[in-house]
Amino acid sequence: LVEIKEGKARIFIPDPKEYEKNGKFDPSWAPVFYNPRMMFNRDISVIAVSIISPKSIIDALAASGIRGIRYYLESNSPIEEIIFNDKSKVAVDLISKNVEANGVKVAKITNRDANSLLYEVITDYVDIDPFGSPSPFILSSVNAVKNGGYIAYTATDLAPLEGSAKKSCKRKYDVNNSKLSFSKEVGLRVLLSKIVREAAVLEKAVEPIFAFYNDYYYRVIIRVTRGAKRADESIEKLGYFYECEKCGFSGSSKDPIEKCPRCGNKVKISGPVWLGKINDDSFVHKMIDYLQNFSYIKNFEAVSILLHKILQENKYPSGYYNLEFIASKYKINVPAREKIIECLGDASQTHFSSKGIKTSKSFDEILECMKTLSNKV
Ligand code: SAM
Repeated sequence: LVEIKEGKARIFIPDPKEYEKNGKFDPSWAPVFYNPRMMFNRDISVIAVSIISPKSIIDALAASGIRGIRYYLESNSPIEEIIFNDKSKVAVDLISKNVEANGVKVAKITNRDANSLLYEVITDYVDIDPFGSPSPFILSSVNAVKNGGYIAYTATDLAPLEGSAKKSCKRKYDVNNSKLSFSKEVGLRVLLSKIVREAAVLEKAVEPIFAFYNDYYYRVIIRVTRGAKRADESIEKLGYFYECEKCGFSGSSKDPIEKCPRCGNKVKISGPVWLGKINDDSFVHKMIDYLQNFSYIKNFEAVSILLHKILQENKYPSGYYNLEFIASKYKINVPAREKIIECLGDASQTHFSSKGIKTSKSFDEILECMKTLSNKV
């Protein structure tokens, strides 16, 4: 074991050097999983939990226990109990050591299958941080959360979510997905669609509070409330994205369409996807305010940049425009993104892609700006 520091926690993890293969190391090769690349995800989660301020937490797939430990040490919440769970015995032994080393007095450690545990407990906040898809844990986590409680999901299976592995997407998310030019955002909305439909089975409604893409994963935090009618209202916000293979026009619709409303050619579609808001403005504002208390985190600057981008792009409708894709359809140079945003007036960057913009202006207005600016390149 080696001791590492993350946020205010000091934890023991298996020594990566012992599990290297040909000088390379993948965190999944170690007997207990710890990935430093997920620190950003955990930093953001600690800030979110300090706003949510739960009394009880379930870290259902805890591995080293790093998440729950950081929530205890850093979120300043009135936490009375944190259940750390993992089905691996080695992980649970390590959690005991780490919990003790960090003085987590409210810890309860269980060595269970997460699903069976989640059907027996009730809590304010559940964290689902699996290998790959969170789908197998959606129904049970929604079941475990109190009325008005919160759940955070990580998903690292971007191939199905972004429409590259279509069959897998159908199996895991029951969504007919396609690879679109703005699939980075579609993926997050595929995940939310699945969560909304699973929650509806239990007559619960889902409200996305905070959601983002980073590196190789999505992270979404939702609020769950009881009520069949409310669940119906969540389902009402599902629909389809389409994108024309010929003219590049894209948009969303309540029902799947076959032909491009702009040029009449065939469109690719993805759905059902969540078409409602993915971030709650007041929550993002609070995240920005609370961030000041976390000046010690390594990712302070990057978190601040993400939060401000999300706040800006949250003003605009679902979906973004991929400037490279549009430029390639019209055989023009790609003008600088900032110039296009300036030309449109009412537009912003998007954290989903460095080549994307969000706007409420029309496709033809974007094209007009791009053509004018591209002549000047
Ligand atoms: N949350 C950790 C972190 O932030 O470092 C990482 C969790 S790791 C990606 C996933 C963990 O889930 C592994 O430790 C694995 O043993 C555990 N796991 C996988 N399937 C499980 C199940 N059905 N029930 C409980 N634990 C499970």
